[in-house]
Amino acid sequence: MEILQNVLQPIEKVLIPEKKKKDERVLPPVFNRGVVTIVGIKTVTTRFIPVSHEGFSNETYVDKIDLLGKKRAEFISRKLKGIERRAHMSLFREMVEENNGVWKDEFESKFGKPCTIPAPLCVTCWNCSLFGALEAGKGGTFSRIRYFDTWSLQSADECVASTTSEEGLGIGNTVNENLKEERGSESYHLYEYVKAGTKFPFITIIESPTALDITGYLAAVQRADVHGYGKYSANHGKFQTEFIAVAEGMPEFSILDLLENNTEEEIKNKINTGKYKFESNSVITDNEEIKSIKNKLPELFKEYWNSL
Ligand SMILES: [Zn+2]
Repeated sequence: MEILQNVLQPIEKVLIPEKKKKDERVLPPVFNRGVVTIVGIKTVTTRFIPVSHEGFSNETYVDKIDLLGKKRAEFISRKLKGIERRAHMSLFREMVEENNGVWKDEFESKFGKPCTIPAPLCVTCWNCSLFGALEAGKGGTFSRIRYFDTWSLQSADECVASTTSEEGLGIGNTVNENLKEERGSESYHLYEYVKAGTKFPFITIIESPTALDITGYLAAVQRADVHGYGKYSANHGKFQTEFIAVAEGMPEFSILDLLENNTEEEIKNKINTGKYKFESNSVITDNEEIKSIKNKLPELFKEYWNSL
């Protein structure tokens, strides 16, 4: 990670809280506003139902918008962030248990109080420091990680199974079906879904980053991919993520620029040849190198935990 050294912060400047009273911990104020940008492509590997609302219904439609000459499936940043946050939390809890005792007890002794997603959050742990609080107006903007809405590279005609597509709608049982009653049309759930193979480019920014934040994020995404981002069934919405670049500084391009391309290869080429630039020239694009950053997580976590 030598290439990111100018921007990476020592853990004690960002992540180690000061103990005030028995149950009160305060994170150090962060004055450095250095940034690491992570760019990649998420490929759908199962049926994926990206919808922006919660709740159960008999019919579900994929969120779509007209953008840059195509109707595209939409994958909102709140969904991306929410699922990756949970994956990040469970991953770190497991590491606490591997190194120490029961995570709940260990956690409370280090941070003074429990931390439950969505509430109440402790606002001082590895997870809260990176992802911020959840309630709008109550610290939501303290988040150091920034997500962006994204859209499918392919057109919805091509990548969404719908009433007009060859596959037709997906059919499942409703979540709230009463199994004691005879089955009728209300027993079925009809849904559109994004087909396997659909690609969503993404950009994620981490402000005042520590090495632990970067490795933790990379590992959490891998876990989230296996857990799935989809609504309706726990088996839906699985992904494979390819990280294309981990770079120092802000990107000088947006998701809209990435969507001007038709394939993943075109995006990779433009990053590798510097057509899409970052604020600095410190950019890691080698896949093995990015993997080796991710693999440093256990070691970096141990250092963090011992410093708390
Ligand atoms: Zn917390």
